[in-house]
Amino acid sequence: MYICRMKNWLLGKSLEELREIVSQLSFPSYTASQIALWLYRKKVGEISLMTSLSLSQREELSARYIAGGFKPLEKILSKDGTVKYLFPAGCGTPIETVVIPDEERSTICVSSQAGCKMGCKFCMTARMGFNGNLSAAEIISQFLNIQESDKITNAVYMGMGEPLDNLEEVLKSMEILTADWGFGWSPKRVTLSTIGLYPATKEFLEKSRCHLAISMHNPFDQERLELMPVQKAWPISQTLELVKSYDFSGQRRISFEYIMFDGWNDTKRHADGIIRALRRLECRVNLIRFHEIPEFPLKTSPDGKIELFKKRLTDAGIVTTIRASRGEDIYAACGMLSSNKKL
Ligand code: SF4
Repeated sequence: MYICRMKNWLLGKSLEELREIVSQLSFPSYTASQIALWLYRKKVGEISLMTSLSLSQREELSARYIAGGFKPLEKILSKDGTVKYLFPAGCGTPIETVVIPDEERSTICVSSQAGCKMGCKFCMTARMGFNGNLSAAEIISQFLNIQESDKITNAVYMGMGEPLDNLEEVLKSMEILTADWGFGWSPKRVTLSTIGLYPATKEFLEKSRCHLAISMHNPFDQERLELMPVQKAWPISQTLELVKSYDFSGQRRISFEYIMFDGWNDTKRHADGIIRALRRLECRVNLIRFHEIPEFPLKTSPDGKIELFKKRLTDAGIVTTIRASRGEDIYAACGMLSSNKKL
């Protein structure tokens, strides 16, 4: 178990929290900014390397804290270049992180929980059950401890877990990514993906400027319930009403993820349902091939049906893409992340 080590990490601390730490140690307040610079820009993993602090300051800090971060336990490479990492987590169940390199961009897909409690029937992570929330530090550690760290251009919160079920730590990690004292990224580089927990979606939209992706998978409440228990508490129709009250015509984008299941959600009726549901919303739809998992009866829609579905949405004026499948051979593709080893 790693929990006891977590409390003394500097990583994952906001500038305000670092100011409190340096104040307790009677350091000048500007040392908080120096520590943030070393952690989030210079990406050092040792307090001893924070050389703008005096030797005695580094020694005092090291007596109480470590810089923090987990090194990966495993790294697996797909034949298409996708990389999957296995990281330890404080709860004792390891988590997975995926890096998807492309021609002009390189995207990290981060986990926000070890497992998930949402129970979507098509998802391997759901079968792990829920083993714990990741702290902001554990989320940020994924960015810093992959070999490709300096090449990452974009981040998606689409790994293990439902990020809005761990909103506080997820928002804190996003603040570290986008603050001037943190990584300094534009919020346009970060997307949170959710199945649509209504109150947390509202809070996220109020508090963050990052992009939002909603996993729709079926525009009809009753049908969606067959695969997604979240429907019982928060129907997609309600979440859509909510997001329509926000403005997505500017910098912030909203998109909808739609896994294509043969015969279940890929008919003209479903396309018409989406067109009606997304009326008056500036958005895009990403169609995703389903990656089969054991003991689940549905198959992916054939390519021809996916193309036709795309055409129907496009003809109705909805920007629609078919997402390329990446990392299927190493179980890194959408819905396939799972690690049930105990550390
Ligand atoms: S699809 Fe997402 S929300 Fe649903 S069980 Fe899997 S990880 Fe959780």
